[in-house]
Amino acid sequence: MKIDLRSDTVTKPTEEMILAMAQAEVGDDVYQEDPTVNRLEEIAADLLGKEAALFVTSGTQGNQVAVLTHCVNGDEVILEAESHLFYYESGAMAALAGVQTRTLPGERGAMNAVDVEKAIRGNNIHFPRTKLICMENTHNRAGGAILTPEQMKEVYDVAQKHRVPVHLDGARLFNAAAALSVDVRALTKYTDTVQVCLSKGLSAPVGSILAGDRDFIAEARWWRKKLGGGMRQAGYLAAPGIIALTQMTGRLAEDHTHAQQLEKGLRELGLDVAPVDTNIVLVNTASRQLTAVDFISRLSDKGVLASDFDEYVTRFTTHRHISENDISRVLEIITSVLEESPLRL
Ligand SMILES: *Cc1c(COP(=O)(O)O)cnc(C)c1O
Repeated sequence: MKIDLRSDTVTKPTEEMILAMAQAEVGDDVYQEDPTVNRLEEIAADLLGKEAALFVTSGTQGNQVAVLTHCVNGDEVILEAESHLFYYESGAMAALAGVQTRTLPGERGAMNAVDVEKAIRGNNIHFPRTKLICMENTHNRAGGAILTPEQMKEVYDVAQKHRVPVHLDGARLFNAAAALSVDVRALTKYTDTVQVCLSKGLSAPVGSILAGDRDFIAEARWWRKKLGGGMRQAGYLAAPGIIALTQMTGRLAEDHTHAQQLEKGLRELGLDVAPVDTNIVLVNTASRQLTAVDFISRLSDKGVLASDFDEYVTRFTTHRHISENDISRVLEIITSVLEESPLRL
């Protein structure tokens, strides 16, 4: 079996999750009559410190429902230039919500609050209306970088001053909270709405949560239906989601330890590694004249899977199926790939 470090989305449900699926009490969730979905939404809202929550099919759907609920077409959304919403959602913000994006460069995924304030539009007949500011924590393309509560607060304060809502793409928010050793609410208090993935490091098979105030979630429920995300006996999928939220967040620190083990080993090999905050490790092989695509194909031949992130940047993501021994093995394989590389300087 290959050691799969492409993403934490490859995690399979635990035995307990499968048992919970088999035993779930279900109903028709479009009628809001699925007790297991209702329980997941209550638990999620409580954990995230929001009034209400909605079970959605994916992180992308959660983010896009948020944009659709916050904005009308022609509105402007401020977000970080490499954010998932902008970079990896198939142009959905433009195609579905018809919004205009205003991207700001980030420092390890963090927008500067002064830049955000400057980008908020004033009242002028020539301008679109700034209707949303998005943050991402942890930040995927910045290598799982954390936004601290202080960084989030700076942007949130500016947003509040100008009465612009904030949405947080918290696909891996529990990784941030684990690495900071804070309750997740220490982060969600600086956003109006938040999306968290159940299907990544938390190991549920499917789904995300969108949380916010009651009125927002009622409107989001309408948008989810409009997008075809109204599911029927969804309790079978919500049951493992409950386990994800209540039992799986505590072990994320293990994934971070394994990412640090990989970071250390890669540095010892003289490779250019981005700082590791959580479970993502980005390595740049430009100095070896080894492209990410080439690196990944050689790794795959030897039984290690990774993702290409840029011409010379490869991403390794740790998760529940990766052990300390796997990381040692990965480092041995990387060493042998670099030794074989004919272009090694
Ligand atoms: C994975 C991810 C998403 C999207 O989640 P899907 O369930 O794959 O649609 C959104 N934002 C970030 C930061 C992610 O890493």
